[in-house]
Amino acid sequence: MNAPLRVPIEVPNAAVRDCTQSIAERNALMARASVLLAEQDAVLVAHYYTDADLQILADQTGGNVADSLEMARFGRDHRASTIVVSGVRFMGETAKILSPNKRVLMPNLDATCSLDLSCKPDAFASFCDDHPDRTVVVYANTSAAVKARADWVVTSGIALEIVQHLASRGGEKIIWAPDRFLGAYIQRMTGADMLIWHGSCVVHERFKAEGLKQLKKQWPEAVTLVHPESPPEVIDQADVVGSTAALINAVKSLDAPAFIVATERGIFHKMREAAPAKLLMEAPTAGEGATCESCARCPWMAMNGVRELISVLETGENEIHIDETVRRRAVIPLNRMLEFAKRRAMRVRGNA
Ligand code: SF4
Repeated sequence: MNAPLRVPIEVPNAAVRDCTQSIAERNALMARASVLLAEQDAVLVAHYYTDADLQILADQTGGNVADSLEMARFGRDHRASTIVVSGVRFMGETAKILSPNKRVLMPNLDATCSLDLSCKPDAFASFCDDHPDRTVVVYANTSAAVKARADWVVTSGIALEIVQHLASRGGEKIIWAPDRFLGAYIQRMTGADMLIWHGSCVVHERFKAEGLKQLKKQWPEAVTLVHPESPPEVIDQADVVGSTAALINAVKSLDAPAFIVATERGIFHKMREAAPAKLLMEAPTAGEGATCESCARCPWMAMNGVRELISVLETGENEIHIDETVRRRAVIPLNRMLEFAKRRAMRVRGNA
């Protein structure tokens, strides 16, 4: 049986930033959120794709801005009894899986992800049941129930190495879910035998190869950075393909004056911070001229704001709960990845 056909995803309108807010109001909200975090013994962890103010607040209050794995790891290792996860739902669930005894809150529980939505636990479980000879590898952008069915959970930063590792130990056959573009990229790079689910990211799938080609012609000195959830014709034009953390690191470390960036636009906050003198350009999306269909903005990430953060800290609403049986299963493939990452880091340090 091949992977089930792509399920239709209902995409909400992206939240519109409150442009009427004065600087004084904005500063008052930031100060209020900061006080509440301290009062509630809470730490804020924010994803690179969230609003810049949430990233600033996380940095200023001793929290963290990171990719989904690092967010969960940071929250687990932090002494605070409450973790506030600013991002999308699977990130809050991952934090809860790793920190079952902590309270995990989210600014908006409706903030989800098209990859998570595309991979319903029941359909995925029966797909896995049809292929019992295959090792099940799922991307972090999945629900706790899907993770519970997996042998490995991976993030974009470590997926390539883990699949390489599996393929090299006797050519293990793999089920990959849910991102089809990331899966195809890994398959191409590793030659692994992979059955790939039909999910995609509504932001990255809209980057356009032809538009990128034209932009690269205009800016021959620019380095092109692409997240591997993008279509293959876009990935093929990249100078660097990598996770959010890898792309930020490329802006910081590469000696180039300009960069074209194909990933969610929230990442520009950390990129500008890392290299304020460098020119950063958005890779073209599906829009024509002044119109823009996606603007590389994730509609679910955009549901997070400082007002929503204040509200959950004041009310205690939007807590993440996970069935304990599911959590116990889901933590196994997550810890497998963390152990793999730890061994790899030790190897790299040992070789340095
Ligand atoms: S940017 Fe894409 S992968 Fe990330 S949360 Fe939004 S829909 Fe999911």
